Amino acid sequence: MPESASTFIAKSTVKSADLDHRRKINFNIGRYNAAVPAGKAQFPDISSARERAKNIKWRAIETLDEQLENFEAAFTKRGGKVIWAADAGQALQEIKKICEAKNCRSIVKSKSMVTEELKLNDFLHEQGIESVETDLGEYIQQLDGEPPYHIVTPAMHKSKEDVAKLFYEKLHTAPNLSPEALTLVAREKLRKKYTEAEIGITGGNFLIADIGAIAVTENEGNARLSCAFPKTHIAIVGIEKIIPSVTDLGLFWPLLSAFGTGQQITVYNTIVTGPRQANETDGPDDMYVILLDNGRTNILANPKTRESLYCIRCGACLNACPVYKNIGGHAYGTTYSGPIGAVITPHLRQMDEWKHLSYASSLCGNCTEVCAVKINLHELLLENRHEAVKQGAVPGSEKIAWKIWKKASLNRNLMNKGSRKIKNWVVNKLFKGWTAHRADLDFSEKTFNEMWREKKK
Ligand code: SF4
Repeated sequence: MPESASTFIAKSTVKSADLDHRRKINFNIGRYNAAVPAGKAQFPDISSARERAKNIKWRAIETLDEQLENFEAAFTKRGGKVIWAADAGQALQEIKKICEAKNCRSIVKSKSMVTEELKLNDFLHEQGIESVETDLGEYIQQLDGEPPYHIVTPAMHKSKEDVAKLFYEKLHTAPNLSPEALTLVAREKLRKKYTEAEIGITGGNFLIADIGAIAVTENEGNARLSCAFPKTHIAIVGIEKIIPSVTDLGLFWPLLSAFGTGQQITVYNTIVTGPRQANETDGPDDMYVILLDNGRTNILANPKTRESLYCIRCGACLNACPVYKNIGGHAYGTTYSGPIGAVITPHLRQMDEWKHLSYASSLCGNCTEVCAVKINLHELLLENRHEAVKQGAVPGSEKIAWKIWKKASLNRNLMNKGSRKIKNWVVNKLFKGWTAHRADLDFSEKTFNEMWREKKK
């Protein structure tokens, strides 16, 4: 078993028995569940809105090369620079080059899962560059030395008491501050950073092909400050974030808000079209967009799993998943957790190392039910299992066990052989993995043939 799988099992086992963790998650997801109906109510027909969004993303992904080239042409026309990065290493080297050219010592950064994928903060730290998270949830996580727990709500697993304790320990504030007071502390610490930083780094919720811009959605205004104050702005965006037209935002902005947080529209929605123009008074001198592949074209190459690229990272499938709610975001050991993480990680990384995530599902289909863009997530989890078997990424013992099972269950004479006791012993020993967390399989005293004959008498 790969180390990633045994670590996942060990962490999940601990977390699923942690009642305090479950209480916090249930509380926070409960608040999300209470808010979402109000967000969805703005759509006269939520199902067709989701369908429409899926169709737009289908078109965008089917013509990805063309859309990205359109984006590049329009963005560079206004002086923006586009960098194509095939993998994390290439993206990091490009960022390093920009930092060196700008003599950068400090960076303000807004929330971005792609930068988590790159482990950007660790890399910048190694280069002697301070990189400060400016989203409150990410700031809390950075202070605690933890990665984000959830793709939308990075500190979802922490109660307000946990955060007060953390600030008390790390920032020497008074103990037991209220959430409002804690926010003011963070705000005061961060304000200075915006004006000192040479570079601001953001992600991008959408890449807009026709006008060559990025769209950033947030609730705190920190992303807007991160790209407005520093002289240089770098946006790092996964290539799948493309949408064909700026008019598509009329659907995607409210959809993302409704499914992400239950808002009708997120507080700050910014469209950034490039560096400051001659007739403009503010904005950065230079703007770079790094278009990141990092395994996404592996997903694109597979016609079945391709639809996972439609994801707008709203986090709804995580909140709905019974597995996520019990084991939490950190047990996955991946950048993207929950159902969408289980679907894409084996393709973004290695199937044999990460296929176990696709088995950590009851296949209840709740993720598919709630997905903002109607991705058939539970079917893609099954598809991953199928792929893993096709690629031979399953242990020999499992293959032999299923071969024996198939042979026996297709042969009536074999099924009739042996007593109940013997059959129970063979099957429960053979499928030890299955019975580790389930009751033993229990054969009937009589065979099917015997019962059938009795019935016919
Ligand atoms: S897969 Fe669907 S529900 Fe999950 S984060 Fe992506 S868009 Fe949201």
